[in-house]
Amino acid sequence: SIVVTGATGHLGRHVVEGLLERVPADRITAVVRDPEKAAGFAARGVRIAVADYNRPETFGTLFSAGDKVLLISGNEFDKGRVHQHQVVLDAAKAAGVALFAYTSAPGSLTAALADDHRGTERAIADSGITYALLRNGWYNENYTENLAPVLEYGAVTQAAGEGRIAPAARADYAAAAVAVLTGEGHENKTYELSGDTAWSFAEYAAEVAKQSGKEIAYNPVSVEAFTGILAGAGLPEPLAAIIAGVDASIEKGELAVTSGDLSRLTGRPTTPIAESIAAALKD
Ligand code: NDP
Repeated sequence: SIVVTGATGHLGRHVVEGLLERVPADRITAVVRDPEKAAGFAARGVRIAVADYNRPETFGTLFSAGDKVLLISGNEFDKGRVHQHQVVLDAAKAAGVALFAYTSAPGSLTAALADDHRGTERAIADSGITYALLRNGWYNENYTENLAPVLEYGAVTQAAGEGRIAPAARADYAAAAVAVLTGEGHENKTYELSGDTAWSFAEYAAEVAKQSGKEIAYNPVSVEAFTGILAGAGLPEPLAAIIAGVDASIEKGELAVTSGDLSRLTGRPTTPIAESIAAALKD
């Protein structure tokens, strides 16, 4: 079976959809916390397994020898994600799975956000399991799903200075995961996945202006100020600091690396930011 955790998340849904185009539904297992959120997949014949990274016993007999597994990293920053991921890794290792793929962070990223991913990568290496590391870059949607305040205030506010970033759409990263889970020759490979081209936030603001017909400027602020803005918008302060810290990495060019791995894996160019902006403005 091909087993996907986080299957009812944004990325996981794209992965399961992509798998459904390539393999029979009963060869796909969606690991979910809430089966109601997976009712649509179940109706199409996808197997559903209910498990939680915080409850090791729920992963006890979930995997079988020969499975190909995609561990989609969790989003509970305060719950010890390395420990959570270790739970899934231990169960997969014990079952003797054929491949353990993990959605990590770019090798060039030094921001605090990458710490859990480096810790998980170390655990994977130490386990001796056959792995594939999908070092996912940033999502276009991290920006385009937050256009409301940009349009309201006429400003793209970030703390990345003139730094450039090369994100891709979630669907692109999902297609890469599908290629690894359904293809050959990915054993013990590390992929640096990103968009094909890097852009600056000034260029991003100009594109949003062009498409929306509004005046939109780039408003570069300090990391401290950006942390305050994110906290003011309702993010818990520690998370706000972590997310603002990513912008310092962007300013240093840590998310502008374009290896071409993503479009090579999927066999198509990555989704341009202009396309993601257009999709967001249509909604
Ligand atoms: P989502 O937040 O949409 O999905 C996270 C998934 O993880 C959900 O399916 C959620 O389950 C599952 N999950 C969280 N905690 C647990 C748990 N304790 N046990 C079992 N499952 C759990 O994120 P995306 O799909 O957009 O992105 C996938 C991951 O990539 C994120 O979790 C995060 O680690 C990382 N990320 C990467 C970004 C990037 O730009 N590269 C941006 C944001 C996140 P449920 O559906 O039940 O909620």
